[in-house]
Amino acid sequence: EGRSIVFASGKGGTGKTTTVANLGVALAQFGKEVILLDADLTMANLSLVLGMEDIPITLHDVLAREADLKDAIYEGPAGVKVIPGGLSLEKVKKAKPERLRELMREIGQMADFVLIDAPAGLEMTSVTALLIGKELIIVTNPEISAITDSLKTKLIAEKLGTLPLGVVLNRVTNEKTELSKEEIEAILEVPVLAMIPEDPEVKRASAYGIPLVIKNPTSPAAIAIKQLAAKLAGIK
Ligand code: ADP
Ligand code: MG
Repeated sequence: EGRSIVFASGKGGTGKTTTVANLGVALAQFGKEVILLDADLTMANLSLVLGMEDIPITLHDVLAREADLKDAIYEGPAGVKVIPGGLSLEKVKKAKPERLRELMREIGQMADFVLIDAPAGLEMTSVTALLIGKELIIVTNPEISAITDSLKTKLIAEKLGTLPLGVVLNRVTNEKTELSKEEIEAILEVPVLAMIPEDPEVKRASAYGIPLVIKNPTSPAAIAIKQLAAKLAGIK
């Protein structure tokens, strides 16, 4: 059985989907078997960031017991496997999030890494996402409001028995008003695993539907994400 890591935050829009998509591709480029699971059931958009079109069967259909898991697994960029979510509200209504747990037992057997893209907040679907990963990586921006929300997420994850590995600081600008790495480590009591800079190439890549680490591998954000992938893959 491989590692299953959930990428969560308190606050929305911190960069979870961007991190999961690009880290997954980077790990696949290192030769790892990777599955990306879009557990943001109400606002699924992982497949869009990866530029995947034509997805007839999604996680939602599996959660609604209307399709088999194997039919909701697609091959994405660099050979990364993706279990996308459905985009329509119709699908969201039918899906049963409770089923994610039993599904995860199956998915966990299928790869070296399962990266789970979680919804923001601490509603039922967010807590479910925290529950299905064995490990947690918090994705946050270096500002106090995002950090306090992240602390709640971390505490809930620990209560559920999910191990917090550390923090990804995203959209770092090094302005004076930003909290420092040390301050954030002191508040969250976990190490900062990566600092991804604010990088206009992130938005450009997602508009093209090509993961940044493929479209522009030497951009500052891509380099930071590849370093994180190397760390997780045990490559120095
Ligand atoms: P979440 O999944 O946490 O809601 P996303 O990954 O969708 O967050 O990112 C939210 C927005 O921020 C997107 O428009 C994305 O392109 C942008 N973004 C994410 N990371 C960066 C970055 N390092 N630099 C610039 N823009 C970024
Ligand atoms: Mg997202």
